[in-house]
Amino acid sequence: MTLPDALESFETLVPTGRPLVVFLDFDGTLAPIVDRPEDARLAPGMGDVLARLVGRMPVALVSGRDLADLKGRTAIGDLVHAGSHGYAIEGSGLHHEVGAEFLPDLDRVEAALRASLDEGGGFQVERKRFAVAVHFRRAGPGGEAAAVRAVADALKDQPRLKATEGKMIREIRPVLDWHKGSAVRWLLDRWRAERRDAPFPVFIGDDVTDEDAIRALGQDGLGIMVGDVPFETQAKAKLDDVDAVRAFLERLAG
Ligand SMILES: [Mg+2]
Repeated sequence: MTLPDALESFETLVPTGRPLVVFLDFDGTLAPIVDRPEDARLAPGMGDVLARLVGRMPVALVSGRDLADLKGRTAIGDLVHAGSHGYAIEGSGLHHEVGAEFLPDLDRVEAALRASLDEGGGFQVERKRFAVAVHFRRAGPGGEAAAVRAVADALKDQPRLKATEGKMIREIRPVLDWHKGSAVRWLLDRWRAERRDAPFPVFIGDDVTDEDAIRALGQDGLGIMVGDVPFETQAKAKLDDVDAVRAFLERLAG
């Protein structure tokens, strides 16, 4: 499917005269994808444009990263941070957390994966507060199959946990009906209640977990996907890369 380019079609996609609220993924959207997730940084100039944007409208970052990790990379003005795929929301007077009852299950799965995968051999097991991630970007051919096998084994006796897919990553997360889209809806409810004019929501992301967030916007909103989109999407537009995201945010900031 070919989506219109969000920069070229800016005027037709973004309504004028309505307040906007903006939701942004982090990795692959504001920060270029890097081999090791701990090395990811905001793209050059991105911090400045985020600071200007958040001075003009509510802006929330919605990421699979832990809240503390996300905040450490993006400590800018009045940004709202939603970490762990939206399980933990904080900022601008808002606070919400779900899922603490799953922490012991995640501890057990983390131990099983560290025992079964060779972390020197290109696999990386990353414990996040509400997830255990297996990265196989550096594991070479066969890495994905081995990661999928290890994850399936670790989940055998864990009915309260499930595996999810992303780019060069498998993640184990609680079986709980809460995701990036739930966090977007939770924030939208609050921001709508504060305003008389219904704000127009914009979401920009690059991965399959961002689809939940785009669906949560409903028809009266703009979902944008970054880069190649090898899956079904309800996004209305695309941006080529992180630099194009920065240019789009510059125009939103006005
Ligand atoms: Mg991403």
